[in-house]
Amino acid sequence: MFRNKTVLVTGSTSGIGRAIAEGFAVQNANVILNGIESIEEVNTILDEMSRKTSGEVVYECVNMASPDAVELMMKQSIERFGSVDILINNACVQHVSPVESFPVEKWDLILSLGLSSAFHTIRHALPSMRQKGWGRIINIASAHGLVASAQKAAYVAAKHGVVGLTKVVALETATENITCNAICPGWVLTPLVQKQIEAKAEKMGVSLSQAQHDLLQEKQPSMNFVKPEDLAAFTLFLSGDAASQITGSAMTMDGGWVSQ
Ligand code: NAD
Repeated sequence: MFRNKTVLVTGSTSGIGRAIAEGFAVQNANVILNGIESIEEVNTILDEMSRKTSGEVVYECVNMASPDAVELMMKQSIERFGSVDILINNACVQHVSPVESFPVEKWDLILSLGLSSAFHTIRHALPSMRQKGWGRIINIASAHGLVASAQKAAYVAAKHGVVGLTKVVALETATENITCNAICPGWVLTPLVQKQIEAKAEKMGVSLSQAQHDLLQEKQPSMNFVKPEDLAAFTLFLSGDAASQITGSAMTMDGGWVSQ
């Protein structure tokens, strides 16, 4: 279905991004992986993914918090493949701290990575999408793009921001066969969340499984984690023709989190 399409997934060496990239590889797209790990560290992922696709799989070791590095990656990718047809803005990190003691460098990093990097990839990708008369932009936001939690000032601000950016881009591209949507997952058991479970277990003096149970109980009524491969399937759907009239939406996959 995505043969001859090129997809860039930022932050795709792990977790949700990796599952999304794999989903597109299986559909024979050209896949541009991104992360901050060295090429040696991602060789196995590259090999595995290359075996699944008739398209090309390449890795861009680029810090998405650097606008100059993002610009270079976008220019080189468009030169190499002719366009980035499907852009998945996924890279982000988390930091948990009360607002008055929130480290300024963590605020800057999370805003750069979770919000500004999407602005930069989108502004560089749009001209080639417009030239082709087709494009899909999917921003991996979060339930925290719609509601807040204490101690996550930067993350909640970045994710609310990316939902706003999604709506503006959708309006500006509405007549051009380009869609822009945000997906708002609840808890997904990836390294990003595993770190929070470990911190919770240590702080509360409970086992990891108890901390995991408590984390779900606090926010996610289904008491189940969202699976990365289900988010990949959602992303593939939004990238297909059946989703051509879905644009500007912020859609949840959160086990009921934001219904409360
Ligand atoms: P993860 O920690 O498993 O993966 C993060 C990826 O981002 C990795 O590939 C890493 O290399 C990359 N990355 C980190 N810093 C980077 C940088 N400076 N430049 C480029 N890449 C960088 O995380 P995940 O849980 O898969 O999260 C992916 C996205 O989903 C994030 O935007 C996150 O906010 C969002 N999300 C996650 C959850 C969850 O419960 N895990 C819930 C809602 C939203």
